[in-house]
Amino acid sequence: MRYRPLGKTDMRVSAVGFGASPLGNVFGSISESESQRAVHAAIDGGINLFDVSPYYGHTLAEKRLGAALCGRRQSIYLATKCGRYDLDGFDFSGQRIRTSIDESLRRLQTDYVDLLQAHDIEFGHLQQIVEETIPAMQEIQSQGKARFIGITSYQLGMLAKIAKANPLDTVLSYCRFNLLVDDMDLVLTPVLKDRNIGLLNASPLHMGIITRSGAPAWHPAPENAKRAGAQIVQLCEENGFNPAQVALRFCIDHPYVASTLVGMSATQQVEENLRAVTMDIDPTFMAKIEALVAPVKNTIWQSGLPENADG
Ligand code: NAD
Repeated sequence: MRYRPLGKTDMRVSAVGFGASPLGNVFGSISESESQRAVHAAIDGGINLFDVSPYYGHTLAEKRLGAALCGRRQSIYLATKCGRYDLDGFDFSGQRIRTSIDESLRRLQTDYVDLLQAHDIEFGHLQQIVEETIPAMQEIQSQGKARFIGITSYQLGMLAKIAKANPLDTVLSYCRFNLLVDDMDLVLTPVLKDRNIGLLNASPLHMGIITRSGAPAWHPAPENAKRAGAQIVQLCEENGFNPAQVALRFCIDHPYVASTLVGMSATQQVEENLRAVTMDIDPTFMAKIEALVAPVKNTIWQSGLPENADG
């Protein structure tokens, strides 16, 4: 496993991070015991960053992750979130953020998280995020319940704007840098690099699009992006590659991202994704994927309040 500094935090995080949303049955129902084995296989394989949220499976993912980490909490970095609790359930008020962390700590069976992130801030008002949410997270940090704080969003412009003017340790961007999309580097990466803010890149498989099972029913991407994902999968298989490994490896090779968060819930996925760190991929094959994707590259969708949309 490769490890990289997460901005100016004291954490050196694994190039592959464990995305725990599938533990909440977000991508289909999974068994408790298998998810526990997946978490243990990830730790044994050198993955040291686990990302979860109260939103994933209405707290189920946090509960399962907390149970799986019993006795192993100290060997990993744990990141959770606050402010999002349902598809349309958001509360970024200072008061809710303060109760949210205590609830998360109980479910995660720990007395601190390494990283607390305001979840999907494009669904909140910028003024409230800056004047209430972030100060409440700083307070939580000073109490020792979270060692570092950050924000997450699909909207790159909003992430960049807030990162420029607020005391953040990390930013998590998702579905904006992978085989289908790379606009994260236009808007966000330079801002974070200048300030040495840690960057986490989530959803290397474009939330399941670049897998054999394809996109889940709730996936917001337009049909042409889903079709391109299916074509990548086909091209990989015709050339003897595992599509998830190819897509993950592309993301891992990003020069500034500290950790690529991939959603996992089975030991086989963990093993395959660990192998992606060291596998070789012929550049001419990557060029074929690039050519295939070109007509739909950077196809994005709306997320959050219109006022927070990328311009
Ligand atoms: P992803 O692109 O990582 O895809 C996950 C899907 O791919 C799941 O169905 C998983 O079972 C499958 N998969 C993983 N490895 C596989 C393999 N080797 N073979 C076949 N299928 C495989 O999407 P994601 O889970 O949404 O993103 C990763 C993590 O990033 C999340 O779990 C979450 O922790 C984080 N995230 C955060 C935000 C946010 O904060 N707003 C948004 C998206 C993701």
